[in-house]
Amino acid sequence: MNEEASALLKLQEIDLCLMRAHAQLKAMPQTERLAAVAQAKKKLSSELKRVIGLRKDIEIDIAELQELHEGYEREQRDVRSSIDELGHSYKEIQALDTKLSLLAKQLEKLEFKLGVLLEKLDKAEEAEKKLKTLGSKLLADEDALRRSFEQDSADIQASIEDLNEDREDVASRIPEDIRERYAIAAKRFSGLAVERLTGNVPSICRVKLQADAYHDLARGPAISECPYCHRMLVCEER
Ligand SMILES: [Zn+2]
Repeated sequence: MNEEASALLKLQEIDLCLMRAHAQLKAMPQTERLAAVAQAKKKLSSELKRVIGLRKDIEIDIAELQELHEGYEREQRDVRSSIDELGHSYKEIQALDTKLSLLAKQLEKLEFKLGVLLEKLDKAEEAEKKLKTLGSKLLADEDALRRSFEQDSADIQASIEDLNEDREDVASRIPEDIRERYAIAAKRFSGLAVERLTGNVPSICRVKLQADAYHDLARGPAISECPYCHRMLVCEER
C-alpha cells in the first residue's frame, strides 16, 4: 500500500473517532438540558417583549389622561377665580356654577379611568418583574450547565483537539483531488467512505469482485473506486 493510500485510511479512522467524540458530546445530559434552556429563553424573551409593549401602551394612556386631568383642573381654577370676581349677574354666576359641576363630573370620570389604568399598570409591572426574575434564573441555570458540561466533557474535548491535530498532519500527506473525493464520499456514506480490498472482497460492502474486475483494480491506481458501492477503494496488496 502506498503512503497516500495508508494516509487516506488513517484519515478515515481519525474522522470516525471525531464523529464518535462529537456524538458523545451530543449525548451528554447537559446538551439536552442546555437546548431546553435555550428554548425557554426564547419563549421568555418574546413574552417579555409583549409585556413591555403592553406596559408602555398603558403608560402612554395614563399620560394622556393625566394631561386631560390637568387641563380640567386649570379650567376649574379659572372658573372659580372668575366667580370670585365682582360684578357678575345672578345668571352668570349660575352658568359658572353649572360649568363647575360639569367639570367636577368630568374629573371624576377621568379619575375612575385613571384608577383602572393604574391597576393594569401594576399588573403589567408585576408580570414584567416576574419574567425578568425568571430570565436571570435561566441565565444562572445556563451558566451552571455550561460549566458542568465543560467539566464533564474535558476529556472528550481534549481528545477532539488531539484528533484535529493528527487530522491536519495526515490530510497534508494526501493530494487535494483525493481529499475532495474523500470529502464527498464521507458525506454520502456517513463517514464510511473508504474500504479496503483484501483478496477479492471489499471490506465494507463485502460484495465479492468478479475476476476481471479484480484484475483491473489490482493493476489500477492504489486508490480506486468499488464498482458495487462506489466507495473509495484501497487495494491492500498494492
Ligand atoms: Zn464496495
